[in-house]
Amino acid sequence: MKAPLIVDLRSDTVSKPTPEMRKVMAAAEVGDDVFQDDPTVNRLEEKMADVFGKEASLFVPTGTMANLVSVLAQTHPGETLLLHPDAHPFRAEAANVAVVGGLLVKTVPGELGIMNLEQLTGEIVRDDNVHHSETTLIAVENTTNAGGGNVYPLERIQRIGALAKENDMRVHCDGARIFNASVASGDTPARIVRDCDTVSACFSKGLGCPAGSIVAGEASIIKRARKLRKMLGGGMRQVGILAAAAEHAVDNHVERLADDHRHVQRFRDAFSSIEGISFPLPTPTNILYIDVDDAASFVGKLEEKGVRMLAFGPKRIRAVFHLDVDDAGVEKCIDECGQLLEAGVHAS
Ligand SMILES: *Cc1c(COP(=O)(O)O)cnc(C)c1O
Repeated sequence: MKAPLIVDLRSDTVSKPTPEMRKVMAAAEVGDDVFQDDPTVNRLEEKMADVFGKEASLFVPTGTMANLVSVLAQTHPGETLLLHPDAHPFRAEAANVAVVGGLLVKTVPGELGIMNLEQLTGEIVRDDNVHHSETTLIAVENTTNAGGGNVYPLERIQRIGALAKENDMRVHCDGARIFNASVASGDTPARIVRDCDTVSACFSKGLGCPAGSIVAGEASIIKRARKLRKMLGGGMRQVGILAAAAEHAVDNHVERLADDHRHVQRFRDAFSSIEGISFPLPTPTNILYIDVDDAASFVGKLEEKGVRMLAFGPKRIRAVFHLDVDDAGVEKCIDECGQLLEAGVHAS
């Protein structure tokens, strides 16, 4: 009997390496990367520096470490980091910037995960008053995960970059899903991060790698980040096996992100005028927030049918589309959700 189709939309991190990816991983030339002897990692780091239009880049195990070394490399303990209250380092990195970085964090709200420029300007403290913590780093997130996978308008990043320059501050871009931003907007990754000093990006999300992230920026910052990676226990050895997966993903899995974005629209359109379900945020990329009356019950019933989503709040569900969800998977998902809505499962 054929195994029943499971459609897992809890996150794009659940995507698995393809057979082709496993092949390049198995064949990868490797060396000890702490000695910078791994030719595959070295090649990836050169390539990613190019992709982001920066001097250098560094391969790290996770997006969390990518953000952390970027922040640590550009701040000192006691300084202030500005970011959106929905930003990943604020919500979902176990307070690492406070614990490891000794930083004060101030949040700057704004629609769809995008910081309000006026409020951002109001939070900047740059003086030698002994009472003050100086703001030295701004972090933007692109796309905005909890902001519905939204894309930062280039003009906003440019103004944030200019504001940072005026105040002798730096800008980090948490680009866990920057390739989604690039595919949705048509702007190259290098153009998107032109006004940012550093950028981090994940290979392990929609690009389908088993692990791995990258940090790019000027050579002196990447040099500091390399030491910080070692300090944090992220110096890996024959890790060309993972770098090969990342290189393969960048070459083969970026353009297809458009399919994920199309799948989100297909799902949304299917329920555009159905009662009991609504979509609270715009959905330009691969992340879809869904509102129903009772998220836990809806997600529980859906799971029984082989469709997995995440209950994000009492009424809010998150579905993230990715490499392992094809057209048939999307149709199954629409079908099962439609049946639940018809049966009134959304009603608590
Ligand atoms: C997933 C994610 C991260 C962290 O990546 P991990 O590899 O899970 O540590 C950072 N920022 C954003 C916006 C993310 O979505």
